[in-house]
Amino acid sequence: MRIYSYEAIGFNGQLVSVEVDIRRGIPCVEVVGLPDGAIREARERIRAALRNGGFEFPLERVLINLAPAGLKKGGAAFDLSIALAILSASGQVPELDFTVLALGELELSGRVRPVAGVLPAVADGLAAGIQVFIVPQANLPEAAVLAGDKAWPLEDVGDALQLFAQLIRGDAAPPCRLDSVDSERPQHAIAPAAPLVFPDFADLRGQPRLRRAMELCAAGGHHALLFGPPGSGKTMAASRLPGILPELDDAQAIETTKIHSLAGILPAASALVRGPVFRAPHHSASAEGLVGGGRQLSPGEISLAHGGILFLDEAPEFRSDVLQALREPLESGYISITRAEKTVRYPSRFTLVLACNPCPCGNLGREHAVCLCSAGEIQRYWKRLGAPLLDRVDLRIPVQACAPEALATGAAEASADIRSRVLQARVIQAARYRDTDYVLNGQLDVSGIDRFCRLSAASRHLMQEGAARDGLSGRAWHSIVRVARTIADLAGVQDVSAEHLQEAWQFRRYGDSDWFWQLP
Ligand SMILES: [Zn+2]
Repeated sequence: MRIYSYEAIGFNGQLVSVEVDIRRGIPCVEVVGLPDGAIREARERIRAALRNGGFEFPLERVLINLAPAGLKKGGAAFDLSIALAILSASGQVPELDFTVLALGELELSGRVRPVAGVLPAVADGLAAGIQVFIVPQANLPEAAVLAGDKAWPLEDVGDALQLFAQLIRGDAAPPCRLDSVDSERPQHAIAPAAPLVFPDFADLRGQPRLRRAMELCAAGGHHALLFGPPGSGKTMAASRLPGILPELDDAQAIETTKIHSLAGILPAASALVRGPVFRAPHHSASAEGLVGGGRQLSPGEISLAHGGILFLDEAPEFRSDVLQALREPLESGYISITRAEKTVRYPSRFTLVLACNPCPCGNLGREHAVCLCSAGEIQRYWKRLGAPLLDRVDLRIPVQACAPEALATGAAEASADIRSRVLQARVIQAARYRDTDYVLNGQLDVSGIDRFCRLSAASRHLMQEGAARDGLSGRAWHSIVRVARTIADLAGVQDVSAEHLQEAWQFRRYGDSDWFWQLP
């Protein structure tokens, strides 16, 4: 039997072969192959767990080799593979004819504790031809997503003999029952994903421009900035975005689930993250929690938002290094995290939604209220976002509190209706970008715009006139065309018309070179 464990190296890990050699000699246990402290400590955990599971721990010279030798290995997920390799080498379980990937942390009692990162390990194991996956009971749904009936749960190392007998008999793996999974998960600093019940746009009265912007944001994946006084509906609108987003397709779902698995935040009973993904970290969160990092180079919120929305409320309050770190993923769809000469890269393609007050006190431009901020304070507040970040924001939406008469009208259009239009526009984009690297209009660069957003002579004339009048930058021009492309897609129209451009222009009235944007 060849037994493997898995070292997660960011998004791409590596299988680790676990070999055990038992020789006569003074009883001792030695681990070679660049193990970290947690693995060296595993010796004592495994010794106790095997004894409590009813097995013997060999009173001889036990050499544990983790290969490839040059790869640094860490974490407690190696426990189970080492324990099984010892049982096999000492003849306490029968020899198996297949390759096994085992993951799990052992308690002294012998119980197998769940671990993070099972799905990426299974994905790579399958690619390498591993035949059987032995995982903690709580990780079974996650493993079974890809491995199906090759995935077997082991709740207690004391049940290993019984499990091996089943494997030899060729029994079918037990069906993966989601309701039997206990809720105990490895604890991480990141909050668990929000439950998949989202508030409805029907509750957002009035605010036609804000509602339209949210629809464009969801349909075309355009980054958005909502600015306005506290209580004007910015957070209310943003938190309703997931309700109008499509589910992830299979490839995206596997990528996103891998990232959530590596962060250890997969909800116990949900196997594959289907989305919609909506992450709304607080501005006080650590840089590590937001960008990623730590000893394991774990993904942060920026990567957890992959395939969905990253919402930064009170955006200027975020640490400036975090805001700067957004530039790489917005540019490339990836984020690189470096620590101690090690660099990992996580897919991080999300739609960014920023919200902020018009000024530090929030009263600028508000009726019947006085703003006490100085011009310098307001400039500094806005400058925190930084021009390179704002450059990438296609939709800039001033938000004012809703007029009382609008509140009195009945319910507004519901999320379900908006979502069906969004899905339609997504279908159109999927067909258009089938053989390209683009997925959504919001990702189009200059060459993409030239190729997919042809303007009629009349539209081009209109743009040129307006550009001369308003002093449009090249970036602003591209933003407007991208958004107009989405407006056309929502209307089911092939060519971008002057009318679409005019509407898109409204979302770019606030320029990049302005010191700050005062509410209209
Ligand atoms: Zn103010």
